[in-house]
Amino acid sequence: MAATVSFPCPDCQAPLERPLPDAAPTPCARCGKAIALHADALEAESGASSSASGGASGTAATSTLRVVACPACGEKLLYKQKDFRQAIGCLVVLVAAALAPFTYYASLGVAALIDLVLYRLSGEVVICYRIPCKAHVRGVAPGSKVGAFDLSIHDYYRMLARRAEQGLAGPDETTGPPLDAMSHHRH
Ligand SMILES: [Zn+2]
Ligand SMILES: [Zn+2]
Repeated sequence: MAATVSFPCPDCQAPLERPLPDAAPTPCARCGKAIALHADALEAESGASSSASGGASGTAATSTLRVVACPACGEKLLYKQKDFRQAIGCLVVLVAAALAPFTYYASLGVAALIDLVLYRLSGEVVICYRIPCKAHVRGVAPGSKVGAFDLSIHDYYRMLARRAEQGLAGPDETTGPPLDAMSHHRH
């Protein structure tokens, strides 16, 4: 699976998709603004035990990379979720339920199976908390500090986005999200 990041253009909000790791700044297809991705967003997996093979040459294979920050905006707070199209799963179950009386309810079992396979096949997507960035990173494993979605962190960024819309300065950058929210990300 090729590694990509999809995010809105910071200037014109056009949806963009870029391969990772990024080679060079590429102009936005709509507004032409050159957009450089944050090179430090990806980090080679540390403490890899794969050095058992001896002379481990530093190959830049994507499988050894992890997302530690948002490639689009550099935000350090990210969350991960299954890249599973929920709608497909719901549709499968609905169709199965409709067919159930005719198949002696075997279709429900089949639907559960399809659901499971879809879930297994789907990878993880890492999403930036920052609004309106919300960059989606696919094909790169999440870093150790990337946790599950946290509503309190999301609310914090929603509040920041609201303040930005109103032209108000956000809280001091060093303050960061509420402390209880941060605790999930502390190690
Ligand atoms: Zn643009
Ligand atoms: Zn971002």
